[in-house]
Amino acid sequence: MNSTPPRVRFPRDDGFHAEVKRRAGAHLEATGLARWGGSAMHAKTGVILGWFAASYALLLLLGGTSPVLAVALTVSVALATAGIGFSVMHDANHGAYARSARVNRAWGLALDFVGASSYLWRFKHNVHHHTYANVDGMDADIDAEPFLRLAPSQRLRPFHRYQHLYGWLLYGVLAVKWWFVDDVLDLARGRIGQLPFPRPRRGELAAFLVGKAVFLAWAVVVPVLVFRSGWVAPLFLLGALTLGVVLSTVFQLAHAVPEAEFHAARSGDQRMPTGWAEHQVRATVDFAPSNRLLGWYVGGLNFQIEHHLLPDVCHVHYPALVASVEAACRAHGVPHHTHPTLRAAIAAHYRFLRALGRRGAEAASGSRLAVLAAPSSS
Ligand SMILES: [Zn+2]
Repeated sequence: MNSTPPRVRFPRDDGFHAEVKRRAGAHLEATGLARWGGSAMHAKTGVILGWFAASYALLLLLGGTSPVLAVALTVSVALATAGIGFSVMHDANHGAYARSARVNRAWGLALDFVGASSYLWRFKHNVHHHTYANVDGMDADIDAEPFLRLAPSQRLRPFHRYQHLYGWLLYGVLAVKWWFVDDVLDLARGRIGQLPFPRPRRGELAAFLVGKAVFLAWAVVVPVLVFRSGWVAPLFLLGALTLGVVLSTVFQLAHAVPEAEFHAARSGDQRMPTGWAEHQVRATVDFAPSNRLLGWYVGGLNFQIEHHLLPDVCHVHYPALVASVEAACRAHGVPHHTHPTLRAAIAAHYRFLRALGRRGAEAASGSRLAVLAAPSSS
């Protein structure tokens, strides 16, 4: 692990990304819309924060009167928390929420409020995941070793045979691991996986620490003081489990499916077979494009191809931009895959987990272990 971090490079593309941006820009201009969220995002933020605040207040007020109510309201708090992640902090940390960098930074801190560091997220997600989607060794989203095999290049272990069954439950651990293990270890080591990131400055470190403290205050300390009951611990775990399953599943449906391509990074310089933008499309699959309620809740993450190509465009515009992106893909011979429904996407992820848990690297129907080209001389 201490070897030189891999350096993966993308060749220049044939104008594909420029055409995507040109078509998307033309659409926004024709409709008179800016790339930011505008009033649609303000309204959405109000609804989601209101949902969170109401669920949390009712939990504190009524949770002690009925176990069923306590469970239902805990799940509601967890789903609203996921909504803050999907639909508020994600766009803000990409600089797509508002025109003002300061406003984006402020809403980006919503991630710290729900327990995870926005500073680390901007490296882990904006830089690593968005540059190297599905490149094993570079993209933390497909690193769950040794528990899960999420890329054909990862070692197959005997218990992976059952990962299509236990994987969903394991996703529940994500939130707790993210809050209390990953963020802390990443900060201490100065790297995420193999990739280093700049040490936070004093203000960024303060935001990290204050964020963790605020989260622990509302998620643990206040419920303990209000309920004065041992039931706070299982309720906290229920909330964390719900959040982890929902977040992980939505993340996985866009990349960990049989139609997505995978690559493996090794140490040293390597060259990808396609340009950056084409790689993003080949490593990503849209799902449930007609499901407006789902799209609203997951913050456009079901239009993940459009998001990877246009990460600085707010998600409220993605449904209208799909046709432009598909046209650019057709013009450049790039396959644009979509699962028509949420159910189809979940079934695809199930098949992916099962295939990768049982067979060799090349066997996940459609998933290919694309061995990167030999070290480049450049
Ligand atoms: Zn993103």
